[in-house]
Amino acid sequence: MRILIATPEAVPYAKTGGLADVAGALIKKYRDMKKEAYIILPLYRKIKKGDVLLKNTGLKIKVPIGDREIEGGIFSGESLTYFIDCDEFFDREELYGTPQGDYIDNASRFIFFSRGVLETCKALNFKPDVIHCNEWQTGLIPLYLKTIYRLDKFFKDTATMLTIHNLGYQGLFPASEMPLTGLGWELFNPEGIEFYGRINFLKAGLVSADVLTTVSYTYAKEILKKESGFGLEGVLQRREKDLYGVINGIDYKEWDPSKDRFLPKNFDIKNLQGKRECKRRLVKEVSLDKLERPFIGMITRLSAQKGLDLVLQSIEELLSLGVNLILLGKGEEAFHIGFSEVANRYKGRVSVTIGFEEPLAHRIYAGSDFFLTPSRYEPCGLGQLISMRYGSIPIGRRTGGLVDTIQDYDPLTSKGTGFLFSDHTPSAMLDAVKRALCVYTDKDKMQRIIVNAMKMDFSWKRSAERYIELYDYVTKKRKGMV
Ligand code: ADP
Repeated sequence: MRILIATPEAVPYAKTGGLADVAGALIKKYRDMKKEAYIILPLYRKIKKGDVLLKNTGLKIKVPIGDREIEGGIFSGESLTYFIDCDEFFDREELYGTPQGDYIDNASRFIFFSRGVLETCKALNFKPDVIHCNEWQTGLIPLYLKTIYRLDKFFKDTATMLTIHNLGYQGLFPASEMPLTGLGWELFNPEGIEFYGRINFLKAGLVSADVLTTVSYTYAKEILKKESGFGLEGVLQRREKDLYGVINGIDYKEWDPSKDRFLPKNFDIKNLQGKRECKRRLVKEVSLDKLERPFIGMITRLSAQKGLDLVLQSIEELLSLGVNLILLGKGEEAFHIGFSEVANRYKGRVSVTIGFEEPLAHRIYAGSDFFLTPSRYEPCGLGQLISMRYGSIPIGRRTGGLVDTIQDYDPLTSKGTGFLFSDHTPSAMLDAVKRALCVYTDKDKMQRIIVNAMKMDFSWKRSAERYIELYDYVTKKRKGMV
């Protein structure tokens, strides 16, 4: 089985969020499983100028964008990793945009990438059995295969899967950009890629991929409903029988407190001494007061989706419970300003780092007692999986993947791995924090819940196997065998 993962981001190359972790970990797992798995991503400036070992294959592709023809180059990295080079589109500071907004030519950039992926396959003479697309940035790939490339023998047996990592991001563009896609206007209708007068790249994939997946079971059900469907619930309902939930995992080598190179001291479930040392050092690193206080960590994209309004609204009450807050995040400017103000106001109690800092993220996961994730919605969420592995207890909203991965603590049996709350209100969140603090003040109970959380298995093994099963199914379906 020849697998191709097409993704706009993957660790260790380029990352803005969980998709990068997922794509990077999945491809690594496939390699461990000895699968023939390729991955293609754009050659962003960060990768080109970074320390990744790159080889220019010398192969070129040409992609029509409206009435222009744009040339791209193909670079290779280690084992079956390929990058599409095009300075006009990818030689930029960020992946998709700045805190002020998205890059205005994102339609062209990801039309180029999507069609570029197919052209790259041809240039490399690599005929994938399945192309595993991810998010709106690759949503056009399945549609191109069903239209422009429909009669192309090269892709005769190529099936497609599209994974929705976050339905809130759809790649919406004005109808006037339709000619850039190279697709006919007949597709610009509600059955096709039109969405309330605009073009929707994610919808292109939702209507045309052979199989759809999303990153948790609960989210797979939630997105069929109006409240969580972002206007696409009707499309998804029509494809319900082709929609599967496959829960994300984390890379257990990358996220391993017993070997983590970023930690001042390593630890594991049998010896938590190192975790205390991590907390001690973290206090100094981020200049917070009193080690005895419970520490709540947050590592997140600063976006409304993440429920940050609850934290800003209730900050005073939250701190009055005695906790210290450490936030590491990057995203919308309004939150940069809001949280920086809070950090100034509560020096010693709140630490805010605006930026994307991998080493600090590891140290916060290790040094915090709790990990707060009050998301409005959460397709899967990786933060809570990582935090549990590092013995930092999640406090999260009862939504999406948080439901599937956090077991609400029961004080009678001491079973559970975290604390869940339902309503998207400051008081519901504070109640969950209070429940968590009751456990914190009882050393034995706290020890117990840490062990419960650290014992959970969120490695990729089971989910990677599930994806392989689905690839198998979809390739057979494509060939009319099922
Ligand atoms: P999303 O993909 O919606 O942003 P996830 O919880 O699925 O959220 O994944 C977030 C990933 O990005 C986690 O690995 C988290 O540790 C990491 N991350 C988020 N923000 C930052 C940041 N500012 N610095 C470092 N890592 C971050």
